[in-house]
Parts: sequence; C-alpha cells; structure tokens
Amino acid sequence: MYSSPLLGQSPPGAGQDLLPPPPSLPGTNYTCQLAPGCTSPLEATSTSIRRHLRTHGHTYKDRQNARCPWAGCSQAMRWTNVARHIKEIHLGVKVCCKKCRKAYKREETLAAHEKICIQVCH
Ligand SMILES: [Zn+2]
Ligand SMILES: [Zn+2]
Ligand SMILES: [Zn+2]
Repeated sequence: MYSSPLLGQSPPGAGQDLLPPPPSLPGTNYTCQLAPGCTSPLEATSTSIRRHLRTHGHTYKDRQNARCPWAGCSQAMRWTNVARHIKEIHLGVKVCCKKCRKAYKREETLAAHEKICIQVCH
C-alpha cells in the first residue's frame, strides 16, 4: 500500500501511545437548524446553545414554557430545558465508553456504566 511520507511522520518524543482523539469532544461544531440559512457553528454545550438561541432572538425566562425552535420540532417545554433538549435530541450528542465503546446520551449514565464495565478480551 502507498503511504504518504508526510502522513507517516510522527513528532520526535511522542512515545508509543498514540491515542486517537475522542469521537465527540465538547466544542465540536454542529450545523444550526434554528433559523434558515444560519451558518454559525453550534457547539454541543448547553451554554453555547443558550447563547446561540439568544442570537436568534429566542429569549425567554427559564421557567417560561416555550416551543423548541429547532426546524421541524415544536415540542413545548420549559425554556431551561431547551438547550439540553437540543443537545440530546437534535445534535445527537453521545458519549462513549472507553472500554467497550457503548454509546450513551448522558454523561451520568456513562459514568455509572463505566464503573461496572469490564473490558473483556475475546
Ligand atoms: Zn443559528
Ligand atoms: Zn426540539
Ligand atoms: Zn463499557
């Protein structure tokens, strides 16, 4: 197989453990579907989503009932839950178990799983 000499280089002193980057880092950019034509990248953090919602003029009080402004979704919920809803439902953010690569939506669920997950060698 042909391999590019540029890609084959590894920095000196990097060691043997070359870990691949985690699949979904917070900070990964997603496509915003809150407003047609929006090209601002959307970060998968509640803080960033809330800030982004504000830039589209969606400003409510946390306890106020609001509808999810995501395209094709009109689910009603408390505004305080909208950012998490968007993160989980529309961005599909998942976290993976480092041992068995099982995917979970919530970090708490994953943390509970990792405690009992034993890496099995087949
Ligand atoms: Zn947007
Ligand atoms: Zn929604
Ligand atoms: Zn696991």
